[in-house]
Amino acid sequence: MEKIDRSYLRYIRYAVQWGIFFFLIYAGYKFYIFIEHFASPDARNLTPETILSLRSPSVEGFLPIGALMAFKLWVTTGIFDRIHPAGLVIFIAAVFMALLLKKSFCGWICPVGALSDFVWKLGGKIFNRNFVMHRYIDYPLRSLKYILLLFFIYIIIIKMPPFAILGFLEGDYYKIADVKMLYFFTEMTTLTFITLLILFLLSLPFKNFWCRYLCPYGALLGLISFFSPLKITRNKGACIDCGKCSRNCPALLPVDKKIRVRSPECTGCLTCVSHCPAKGALDIAFTKKRVLSPVIFAVLVICLFFGAIGIGMITGKWHSATTVEEYRHIIPQASTLEHP
Ligand code: SF4
Ligand code: SF4
Repeated sequence: MEKIDRSYLRYIRYAVQWGIFFFLIYAGYKFYIFIEHFASPDARNLTPETILSLRSPSVEGFLPIGALMAFKLWVTTGIFDRIHPAGLVIFIAAVFMALLLKKSFCGWICPVGALSDFVWKLGGKIFNRNFVMHRYIDYPLRSLKYILLLFFIYIIIIKMPPFAILGFLEGDYYKIADVKMLYFFTEMTTLTFITLLILFLLSLPFKNFWCRYLCPYGALLGLISFFSPLKITRNKGACIDCGKCSRNCPALLPVDKKIRVRSPECTGCLTCVSHCPAKGALDIAFTKKRVLSPVIFAVLVICLFFGAIGIGMITGKWHSATTVEEYRHIIPQASTLEHP
C-alpha cells in the first residue's frame, strides 16, 4: 500500500468554517450596535450611511424561513426580495452548492454546523468517546427534520400564494425579523434558555445532534444533494479496510462498506478522505474513475459561496431597501410587534 497524508484537508475546512463563524460574531456585534443606535438620541446625529454601514447583510443568513418564502416568490413571479435580499442570495448559494457539491453548505459554511462540531468534540474529550443512539431511536429522530421540512414546504410552498408572501415580506414584522432574531439571543426568555441548554447538553455526547435530527434546512439540502454528481467514492482495490473513514465520519456513515456514499447526511466535509491512509482508496469523485482533487473541491465550495455573494453585491441584491427612517419607526416596537 502506498501511504498518503491528507490531514491538511481538515485544516482547510476548519479555516473556512471558523473564519465565517468569527466574521458572523463580529457582524452580530456590529448589528447589536446598529440596533442600539435606534434606542439612543445620538442616532439622530449620525448620517444614514454611517448607521447603515453598521449592519452587515450577512446577518440575514439567519432567516432561512423568510428566504424560503422569498425563493418561492422569486421563482413564481420573478420578484426578488428587497427587504432581506442577502438572505435569499445565501439560500440560493446553499441550494446550488447542494446540487453540485453535496451538502457542503452544512459542512463548510454554516456557523451552527461549526459550533455543533466543536461541541461534540468537546463532549468526546469529556466522556472519552461520543455516543451513538440505538437505531430504533436514531431512525425516528432523524425523520424529525424531514417532518419539520414537510411542514414548512406545506405552509410556504403549497399553501401560501405569492401575493401573501409579498405582503409578508414587505410588512413591518419582516423588515425587522433580523432584529427580532438578535433579541431572541440577547433578551432570552427562560424557555429559550432551557431549550438551548438542552440542545447543548445533547450535542455533547451525540455527534451533530441539531444537524442530524432537527435542522429542516439541512434536510432540504440533503435531499437536493442526491443530485450532486460528486460523491465520496471508495476504490475497493486500494482500500485496506482500516475503517478510519467510518470511525471519523461526523455523520456516522459506514463509508468503509460503501463504494459510493449517496446518503443525504453526507456533508462533503472530506473528514473521511483526510483520514484515509491508503493512496487512491477514498476520494470525492464524479464516477469510480473520474476523481476530483479534494483541494479543488474545497476551492469550488469557497468560490461558489462567495461567488454568489459577489454576484448579489454587483447586481444590487445584497443590501436591504429598508430605510433608516423605517428602522427608526419600527425598531422601538420590536418587542411588541407580532407575527401578522
Ligand atoms: S462520508 Fe465523508 S464527506 Fe461525507 S459526512 Fe462522512 S466524513 Fe464527511
Ligand atoms: S477507504 Fe476507509 S477503510 Fe479503506 S483505507 Fe481508506 S480509511 Fe481505511
